[in-house]
Amino acid sequence: MKKLYQALQHFTELLYPKLCGACGLHLLENETVLCVYCRALLPFSNESHDPDNSTEKLFWGNVPVEAAATLLFFNKSARTQVLLHQLKYHQRFEIGEMLGELFAQALVHSGRFDAINMIIPVPLHPERAKFRGYNQSAVIANSMASILKVPVANKLLLRKINTESQTKKNRIERFDNVECVFSVASPDEVKGQNILIIDDVITTGATLISSAQALHQAGSNELFIGAIAKA
Ligand SMILES: [Zn+2]
Repeated sequence: MKKLYQALQHFTELLYPKLCGACGLHLLENETVLCVYCRALLPFSNESHDPDNSTEKLFWGNVPVEAAATLLFFNKSARTQVLLHQLKYHQRFEIGEMLGELFAQALVHSGRFDAINMIIPVPLHPERAKFRGYNQSAVIANSMASILKVPVANKLLLRKINTESQTKKNRIERFDNVECVFSVASPDEVKGQNILIIDDVITTGATLISSAQALHQAGSNELFIGAIAKA
């Protein structure tokens, strides 16, 4: 049934023109993913260059992090929210690819992320991954990898507790600061690596702090943090 649905969806895409990932208007021939208007109005957070940015400060005192940054603000424009929703729930992979490219270019420009030699997307819990079919953070990470010219490791960091299945916020907060949310499958492959951890949205930082702590304990060298949007 799912395959039939996907086939129909692909067929529909052939019949109808692509829509802007943010505003839903039909894209012109020379536009990709976003219309010119939405592209010009993306709410960039401009954190890559700034060593004292507020995302970086979330990690201070929690886990040693070399540099951290986001690409966009989440709350300052509905565009970011729509884009990430389309990527996460509607298989608009091209949105993740575009955002990943923009983000990777910003990191390269800053010169603060040059040491990275591996990217790890924040993993979904296996049950969640099975249900959803893909990890939106992995889509972003794969796109970044081609620009940063480093491999993506999808199987080294494991999510042991399905925090996403609990919709209650207090439940998430209760779990997220517990170190056992994440574990490392093979610490030998993490040892000495300079790792960029990628997530779609950062709010309190709890998920990324837990991820970073697991990698740090497994013997990683320098840790870098990146999220597309900052809530
Ligand atoms: Zn648009």
